[in-house]
Formats: sequence, structure tokens, C-alpha cells
Amino acid sequence: MNRNIELPGVTSFFWKQSRRKTFDKWPFNESNKCNADCMAAAGFYVIGNNDEPDLVACFICNKQLDGWEPNDDPWNEHVKHNPTCPFVKLNKQDEKAWTVGELYDLYKKYTIKEYMEEINKDITILKDAVEQLKSELSVNKISQQKNKKSTD
Ligand SMILES: [Zn+2]
Repeated sequence: MNRNIELPGVTSFFWKQSRRKTFDKWPFNESNKCNADCMAAAGFYVIGNNDEPDLVACFICNKQLDGWEPNDDPWNEHVKHNPTCPFVKLNKQDEKAWTVGELYDLYKKYTIKEYMEEINKDITILKDAVEQLKSELSVNKISQQKNKKSTD
């Protein structure tokens, strides 16, 4: 088995350090259970904007959670909301504790998730294009019908 895998870059949300950086406007502090460090360790990074500052997603399963309370335990919430997440199943928040095999498996899942996101974006773009075409076609049909009538 080829183990010469190219690891995700340092800015990738695959790494806790990069996820941690997204919590710069996190509305909870160190004394709260759902503090930035525990959130990042539990696999989350912030995807919310100013309207939704506490919206986060998991770097592996993409589960999105918001409405955090100070006493919410990020890892318990992750387990509760998606027990089938490969990162939850691995049950090792500390990435330094991962074996090479575990790192490899997780990276595969992460890559698949990234591809799926790209594909879903493309699907949305395609759907929009189809809708646009449909409306253009119906406009053409109407104008053709109008033309027909005027020539009859
Ligand atoms: Zn997850």
C-alpha cells in the first residue's frame, strides 16, 4: 500500500490550528465549555457571518451547528448530532495521537467531502443555467406565438 500521501497544507481546515483561527470573533470565552479551543479540537470551524456568528461546520462530515450555549460541550454535541462522522468514530481529538493509517483514512474522507462540495457547487450553477435557459425558451416561445398570430 502506498503511504506516500501528500498532506493537506498548513492553512487547510484539516488541521486544528487552521480551524482555531476562524474563531477570532467567537462570542464565547475561555471559561465557557464551548470555547474556541475546544470547538476547534472537536473538529469545528466557523462558517457563519455577522448575522450568524456561532454557525460552525465539521471539517470531516460537514455537519453544521449553531445556537451554542456556554455550557455546551463541543465534542458531545458533535457525537450527539452526527455519531456516524468518521472523526467522531475515531474518537481522537488530538491529531498528534493519530496513527499514519488513521491520518490517511481521515484525509481520504476529508478529500471526498471537499470534492462533494465542489460538485454540489457545480450542480447549483448548472441548475441555475437550466432555469435561465428554460425561461429564455419560454420567452422565445411566447414571442414566436405572437409572431405567428401577427403573420396569420
Ligand atoms: Zn463531523
